[in-house]
Amino acid sequence: MKPAGFFCKVDKLGRIVIPKPLRTKYSLDTDDTIEIFTEPDAIVLKKYAMSCTFCGSGENLSTFKGKPVCEDCIKKLRDII
Ligand SMILES: [Zn+2]
Repeated sequence: MKPAGFFCKVDKLGRIVIPKPLRTKYSLDTDDTIEIFTEPDAIVLKKYAMSCTFCGSGENLSTFKGKPVCEDCIKKLRDII
């Protein structure tokens, strides 16, 4: 992990502002979802991209019982039945 060269303060509600150059660089728009990861000494923010529950693919997704599933996994599940 390398420093991004920006500093921001946490407000009294625990919020931070991600600097505009970083939002632009990582294509973050209003209402995008951020996924939060933790490491022993760090909090890592990543733009959330929905992916298949089974294989991690982000293409041709449908939702089954609230979980994303890709077309390939749906076909493989049909073959099992
Ligand atoms: Zn899949």
